Amino acid sequence: MSAVNEPSFRESVELMFDRAVELMDLPDGLKEKIRVVNATYTVRFGVRLRGEVKTFTGYRSVHSEHMEPVKGGIRYAIGVNQDEVEALAALMTYKCALVETPFGGSKGGLRIDPREYEVHELEAITRRFAYELAKRDLINPSQNVPAPDMGTGEREMAWIADQYARMNTTDINAKACVTGKPIHAGGIAGRVEATGRGVQYALREFFRHPEDKAAAGLGGTLSGKRVIVQGLGNVGYHAAKFLSGEDKSVITGIIERDGALVSDAGLDVDAVRDWVGEYGGVKGYPDATFVEDGSVVLEKDCDILIPAALEGVINLSNAARIKAPLIIEAANGPVTAGADEVLRERGCVIIPDMYANAGGVTVSYFEWVKNLSHIRFGRMQRRQEEARHQLVVDELERLDKYLGDAWSMTPDFKEKYLRGADELELVRSGLDDTMRAAYQSMREVWHSRDDVKDLRTAAFIVAISRVARSYEAKGI
Ligand code: GLU
Repeated sequence: MSAVNEPSFRESVELMFDRAVELMDLPDGLKEKIRVVNATYTVRFGVRLRGEVKTFTGYRSVHSEHMEPVKGGIRYAIGVNQDEVEALAALMTYKCALVETPFGGSKGGLRIDPREYEVHELEAITRRFAYELAKRDLINPSQNVPAPDMGTGEREMAWIADQYARMNTTDINAKACVTGKPIHAGGIAGRVEATGRGVQYALREFFRHPEDKAAAGLGGTLSGKRVIVQGLGNVGYHAAKFLSGEDKSVITGIIERDGALVSDAGLDVDAVRDWVGEYGGVKGYPDATFVEDGSVVLEKDCDILIPAALEGVINLSNAARIKAPLIIEAANGPVTAGADEVLRERGCVIIPDMYANAGGVTVSYFEWVKNLSHIRFGRMQRRQEEARHQLVVDELERLDKYLGDAWSMTPDFKEKYLRGADELELVRSGLDDTMRAAYQSMREVWHSRDDVKDLRTAAFIVAISRVARSYEAKGI
């Protein structure tokens, strides 16, 4: 996607890594060990479809095994290639370190356009791919745990989990071999929304810090902020929905494959999503202006730009024209290393991918823990918590009666206070805590060091130092 003469995605990630690691006091050998991709497995396999054997090419790349299992999604897209999978695996290492999920980094991909196949064909292809990976321990609850990515979702994860279970009939932890499964197949509440929810929590945290907002020339809260979202897939949709519905931001632009919609009054995210579901694109949507060349909408005036689709969409060919003062990278690698430099010089603040989209892997971590513990979060404590809260409510009710008109309980206090947290609430609370803590670790480096001018470099420094510590502890 990047402009001609720009480095590849993997080189771009390495350039960003190099920029950060130069500022760190680490032995050169260790820097090199952290930078390189440990191994990439390429598999070509055949599946009999429509009366003939079709050959597919897939990858699983492992960037770093300083912690195991290694973690990262499996992408289905026609553009999948080794360079891309390796860049994404490296980003997973840094992402996991930054948000303190105890995993190394990995990523997989299958070169396929999923829209060309029927569901039963996709199942056959997925099962065969899973078989090829599982028999080499590239899917394994203690070694390598995939998850959804572009072009895959709950359905594919359920097939993978089932395939692994068929191959490992006595493994009591088989379900933990993959995350992002549907609830009825061992998934966790809140995993589907997790990455978009994480983007929302990241922005909320950013807006809690006056200095950080000022760096982007922004003030106030998320309410009323004009937001442009590129890509209304799982991540972009949830981020836009939560920001508009809960934080009262105004979605002034949505960029999709066939063009873009703009509306200064704000777009109804669910209505647009339904429209895309029915008609396959945004064209013809009634309550907005349609712009055929969607890429120009990336350059439109707004407060927050959320690239939530492919890598390299902001590159040297358009970076100078991007007006947003704040970009949050909901996708992996949407800004090339060259564009990053142009934007930084202009004073644009970029909340980097390894932090901004870490909500997915964070909730994947909760799902993996749930699978290994074989119990739903909250199952033991919920009613006990409610009973203890009931004691307080009883006392307050007594006081209420005693004080007569002088005091009474706030109307919905009782209901809100009594309700013990269910799994979804616990997952959101764990995610919120994770996003806040990771942001704070980044901003501390950003503000405390004169040689660190941006959040991405700060994020790399935090992540690399954690990975380095873990290699050092192992004696490497
Ligand atoms: N594919 C997602 C990502 O890029 C999720 C990975 C996971 O949950 O392991 O972060």
